[in-house]
Amino acid sequence: MVRINANFNKLPGSYLFSEIARRVAAYGEANPDRTLIRLGIGDVTRPLPAAVTAAMHKAVDEMATAQGFHGYGPEQGYDFLRQAIAQHDYKARGVDIQPNEIFVSDGAKSDCGNIGDIFGTDNVVAVCDPVYPVYVDTNAMAGRAGDYDAATGRWTNLIYMPCVAANGFSPAIPAEKVDLIYLCFPNNPTGAVATRAQLKAWVDHANATGAVILYDSAYEAFITDPAIPHSIFEIEGARTCAIEFRSFSKTAGFTGTRCAYTVIPKELEREGTSLNSLWNRRQCTKFNGVPYVVQRGAEAVYRPEGRAQVRETIQYYLNNAKIIRDGLAAAGLTVSGGENSPYIWAATPDGMGSWDFFDKLLREANVVTTPGAGFGPSGEGYIRLTAFGEAEATRQAVERIKAVL
Ligand code: PLP
Repeated sequence: MVRINANFNKLPGSYLFSEIARRVAAYGEANPDRTLIRLGIGDVTRPLPAAVTAAMHKAVDEMATAQGFHGYGPEQGYDFLRQAIAQHDYKARGVDIQPNEIFVSDGAKSDCGNIGDIFGTDNVVAVCDPVYPVYVDTNAMAGRAGDYDAATGRWTNLIYMPCVAANGFSPAIPAEKVDLIYLCFPNNPTGAVATRAQLKAWVDHANATGAVILYDSAYEAFITDPAIPHSIFEIEGARTCAIEFRSFSKTAGFTGTRCAYTVIPKELEREGTSLNSLWNRRQCTKFNGVPYVVQRGAEAVYRPEGRAQVRETIQYYLNNAKIIRDGLAAAGLTVSGGENSPYIWAATPDGMGSWDFFDKLLREANVVTTPGAGFGPSGEGYIRLTAFGEAEATRQAVERIKAVL
């Protein structure tokens, strides 16, 4: 008889967004006359930049010719895209990342989840709390997380680093010895960013202990403060202790188009083995590359017109973020995030539970949010709102919430 990976049985039942969808559907069925506004799920709504779709159309036409046809591409990504990434996302910011340190993929979600393949299952993993659930669940699937304790909402073998108001939503370096450290800035869900000094402390810690930092900067395009680093590799010493995940999803509207990349410096070695080589081996074995047409679209993000169009879209979302942030603050809520991030993290009024506040806003304001508790125990007492909606709907949602409060 086949044995399944029993770690999957340990995963708690309802995934956050399924439970939200269930509650929203139930409310919608019972109240068909109400128009809901969704400020919950983190999918974008603005169309792809025109420069991207033009490049993709051209690439499709190439594919229709014998000379321009592309079959399997390099597993690591086409050189034209790796060059553009190295030039514009790194060199232009004074960071030396070579194209062969960049692995193009179909998503930061896949990469964050798959990176565990190259690390032993006995590594101790540290995650922020609250956290993007993918880091936790993929380690649970691999058997690194121990058992889920429903009473505490925590996995027994994970080290949780609380990100709470008292520490400005910035995790403290754990006292325990940890091997893999997941950091995400600008943060999902809190919208917090990390300063150069904070990242330097993490890099020094990782280099001193042999830990590896898994740095998710999927939202770096939303950073407006020039003092905030966009990449962990802006920090001296990061090349020997960090892996970075980036995505075109939120930057350029690729959530449905799928393109991202992971950076692993050549100097990053553990147990005498290059992690760049291990990841290359992993990708070549299990991944056959991102479509040529999609990579041509991603390349266009770096062209002058593409860059201008991306900036415009990001500014559109940042305007929404400001409307949400200012509106909720005016209504008396304590809010953070939303300045260098599309996420706004709001404390519930009077210590209300986050699912209770979610239900209240759903029923009374007809606005869908995300309960903070769904991201981890330290998310209790908060809700997350996203700036990815349509501007007028966002304004209306904020007015409705203000009226309820
Ligand atoms: N990392 C974080 C922190 C995210 O919030 C998301 C998407 O919501 C992703 C990664 C996934 O990005 P992608 O669309 O490239 O898979």
